[in-house]
Amino acid sequence: MINFCNLYSGSTGNCTFVSSDTTNILIDAGVSCQKISKALSELDVGLENIDAILITHEHIDHTKGITTISKKYNIPIYATSKTWDAMKSLEANEACKEFFVANEEFHIGDLKVMPFSIPHDAADPCAFSIYNESKKVTVATDMGHVTSEILQQMEDSNILLLESNYDRETLNCGPYPYFLKKRIAGEFGHLSNEMASKAIAHLSKKGVQNFVLGHLSKENNFPELAYQTVLNELNTNHIDVAKYHLSVANRDKIDNLIQLA
Ligand SMILES: [Zn+2]
Ligand SMILES: [Zn+2]
Repeated sequence: MINFCNLYSGSTGNCTFVSSDTTNILIDAGVSCQKISKALSELDVGLENIDAILITHEHIDHTKGITTISKKYNIPIYATSKTWDAMKSLEANEACKEFFVANEEFHIGDLKVMPFSIPHDAADPCAFSIYNESKKVTVATDMGHVTSEILQQMEDSNILLLESNYDRETLNCGPYPYFLKKRIAGEFGHLSNEMASKAIAHLSKKGVQNFVLGHLSKENNFPELAYQTVLNELNTNHIDVAKYHLSVANRDKIDNLIQLA
């Protein structure tokens, strides 16, 4: 069995909880130790019960909490060596440092982890598929575009947390400076609602039933708009939306614990 709960999502911080009967992990720790602790307590889990933290990439919205967590708790923190190099300034406790290699599976307790490379402007960015028994969940945010390899890796996920960062129009008309707009919409930036909805339409035919839209931009998106863009794409492709569960990770509320037996 596998439990999945997104604790925080978006440019202000990302953290997702995944567990089996015996193993608890976090994917990213992009908010303060205190905030993560508070969110976990709502699931009756303490930070001391976390077996590992997996880091997707060094950006602060994915790593903010690791300095304090690594000093207060003895939790192994996994990142690639390039990502660790890029996180030097965080001065994480050396004793917690663990390594993985992109595109090579590894195990944490009874969870199998497959880190796969994604196109993003970071040292060695990865997304993760986590497996337990016959269940698979995938967390894939922070990517400028979706490649066929990434699509393939996301197939057959029972739950997929996929980035739906910005609405193109809202980004274009918004307050961000030109260079930042270009970065976000670039090949190594973030995924738009449109790109996410196209990936979801494809994956809905490839065994994925449960989609969570995540990493929404506060300035360049709206939850309803992200949600509606996906629905429209599914409808356009004559896909029966009633067969799928679609939700938006809520930045302020933990309401999306999903349990797969
Ligand atoms: Zn990033
Ligand atoms: Zn991010």
